[in-house]
Amino acid sequence: MNYYSAPITKLIEALSKLPGVGSKTAQRLTFHLLNMPEKEVEDLAKAIIYAKRSVKYCAVCCNITDSEKCEICANPNRDHSIICVIEDPKDVAAVERTREFKGLYHVLHGAISPMDGVGPDDIKIRELLARLQDEEIKEIIIATNPNIEGEATAMYISRLIKPLGIKVTRIAHGVPVGGDIEYADEVTLMKALEGRREI
Ligand SMILES: [Zn+2]
Repeated sequence: MNYYSAPITKLIEALSKLPGVGSKTAQRLTFHLLNMPEKEVEDLAKAIIYAKRSVKYCAVCCNITDSEKCEICANPNRDHSIICVIEDPKDVAAVERTREFKGLYHVLHGAISPMDGVGPDDIKIRELLARLQDEEIKEIIIATNPNIEGEATAMYISRLIKPLGIKVTRIAHGVPVGGDIEYADEVTLMKALEGRREI
């Protein structure tokens, strides 16, 4: 049932692993790439590798940055005693747009999802706990997505942190259940932050 040669099949398979790319789109992209001038294909491949190699995680919050510490962690005017825990680097931008939050972030890079084989050790929970050892933290706001995985992650983190005597809050459900922090509008997200409750 394989109509394509090995190199083409391999490229289709690789592209279909990207989010939102089904096998049909992967085939279409593959043939588009094959029709592109070799120089353009080479530039695209180099851009991907360059981005991947030059980007690293902030040593403090695990956000994506090109320096040792991200701009937010390096900013002395931010409140270093509050950490907003989010799933994805894109959520930092979403919360920043509200202009409501002046603390720091912690990017988990995912959520606990036993169905997908993602356990607590597969996301940046250990890094979060390490921060609580050497920083003066007063509050942890958990702003994971309001879906099953996000809630499970919030509960898990809350159980670990509460015994340390640090206040743990969860953002209010202004964000639609099953929704994505990333796509919440500023007002909704601002209300969700304001209405956070202790868990
Ligand atoms: Zn940072």
